[in-house]
Amino acid sequence: MITHFTRRQILASAGAATFLTPLVEATEPPTSEPFPRDGTEALSRLKAGNARFAEGKTRHAHEGADWRKQLVADQKPFAIVLGCSDSRVPTELVFDQGFGDLFVIRVAGNVIDTDVVGSIQYAVRHLKTQLLVVMGHEGCGAVTATLAAIDGTAKEPRFVEALAKRIEPGLKGLDRQLVGTARLSAAVEANVRWAEKQLASFPEGKKALEDKAVMLVGAVYELNTGRVRFLV
Ligand SMILES: [Zn+2]
Repeated sequence: MITHFTRRQILASAGAATFLTPLVEATEPPTSEPFPRDGTEALSRLKAGNARFAEGKTRHAHEGADWRKQLVADQKPFAIVLGCSDSRVPTELVFDQGFGDLFVIRVAGNVIDTDVVGSIQYAVRHLKTQLLVVMGHEGCGAVTATLAAIDGTAKEPRFVEALAKRIEPGLKGLDRQLVGTARLSAAVEANVRWAEKQLASFPEGKKALEDKAVMLVGAVYELNTGRVRFLV
């Protein structure tokens, strides 16, 4: 390191202006990652970002003013993430991604409805985003409310009830022996798979998957560890 620094000093003293550039502290942390060429590479990037987050080694790239200026004219997010509105699961943060990286749709219980599908379709069609992740999370309130509705133990306001109705069909196959946290965890995963199943069942979704225009992956975020477990 000392040798390197000395060399830099020599270059600086020689007035080598072009070599001076790296000496200026960058406002934007460097990213060595090239733009993902396909869904598989996009998934690797998400996994790497989540590993950094879980290990407390976030780099907060793509947040600076210079980077944001590059995005004014256009966006090219490398992944679409359908996640829950839960305040404990901020999508960009858990994947250590910045502005322009992710096309995010958040709705309680990561449920599927026409507006959600329309948002996804927009990103696949117009932005050519090649990875779609449906991400549920541990301790999901919307899934908890749905389980309570199934059990008949709680009465929710009508719009929350309507939301639970979207989740309910996905929980039909749940193991009846499960209770408490184990039951909720199984329900969260089942809800993610239910969303995936619905997305794959639309003619447009089916075709996009067959044509490999987009790759669909389910995931569950763990509140304690900060890790995203991909369901593959
Ligand atoms: Zn939730």
